[in-house]
Amino acid sequence: MRAVVWNGELRFMADYPAPTIRPGWARIRVKTAGICRTDMELTKGYLGFSGVLGHEFVGTVDSCEDFRWVGKRVAGEINAACGQCAFCRSGLGRHCPDRVTLGIDRLDGCMADFCAVPISNLVEIPEEISDDRAVFIEPLSAACEILEQLSLNGSERVIVLGDGRLGILCAWVLSTVVADVTLVGRHPEKLELAAWNGIKTCHGGSGCGSGSDIVVEATGSAVGLAEAMALCRPRGVIVLKSTVALSAAVNLTPVVIHELTVVGSRCGRFQDGLTLLMQHPDMPLESLITDRFPLEAAPAAFEQAARHSSLKILLVVDRHSEK
Ligand SMILES: [Zn+2]
Ligand SMILES: [Zn+2]
Repeated sequence: MRAVVWNGELRFMADYPAPTIRPGWARIRVKTAGICRTDMELTKGYLGFSGVLGHEFVGTVDSCEDFRWVGKRVAGEINAACGQCAFCRSGLGRHCPDRVTLGIDRLDGCMADFCAVPISNLVEIPEEISDDRAVFIEPLSAACEILEQLSLNGSERVIVLGDGRLGILCAWVLSTVVADVTLVGRHPEKLELAAWNGIKTCHGGSGCGSGSDIVVEATGSAVGLAEAMALCRPRGVIVLKSTVALSAAVNLTPVVIHELTVVGSRCGRFQDGLTLLMQHPDMPLESLITDRFPLEAAPAAFEQAARHSSLKILLVVDRHSEK
């Protein structure tokens, strides 16, 4: 099959072996795959991954022992858990210590004609949701994870740092339950695009308010945490969404002095992302798609994704079946 492979260099391959079918798993014919910041990090050596990249996809079930799934249009949760351990038994498979992760950790990803995930990871995409919206379920679910972790009453003041795709999605998701959300970024054109559902935007770090109840750090940069600490009120909550660049030395004294709560936040439940998609058909997800490339042009697509003007870059895998 065709596949985009990382093994120290990023390559398109026309003859990569297709995933074999194993018990309890489904094989999916991929229609569209998204490029995400994590993919860019993997190509810099993050997690030492090698194999087929990609974890954001929409596709059609090609083969599966449960015939009810065959032919269904689906997205799939990215963590393949053991199903046996205490985390798995309590519904927290995304923290299973034995999990492998699609296109991220020891499991070939979705930038290919086919990928495979456990049947229990599949969510069916309803007819009314287009491929272009469905491909956002993974990052949207990651943003929804904040709602699962914090119990919000809607009256909080929230600041989201970072006007990249994840920051914008976090702001959009939070704005569905909280009235006072400010997105702070450094790109006027992205901030303009993010102003949905009453979200306020602010250019630059200082002068964007302080004393916020909740600050979501989604800048992907080392200065983001320091900025978040400066904007958070005493006893407030900082949510860390960036998986990168936290190795830089950060002075955590403000966490102690102001008794801040720091919450790490990663993947969410796809059902939450899907529910949000259904409830908010006006959420302008399509406006985040800045480019599309055929699968073969993945190296060029990755170069484009690295540019500051880019938000979401899609790889069109099966150009005959777009919906
Ligand atoms: Zn991602
Ligand atoms: Zn487990």
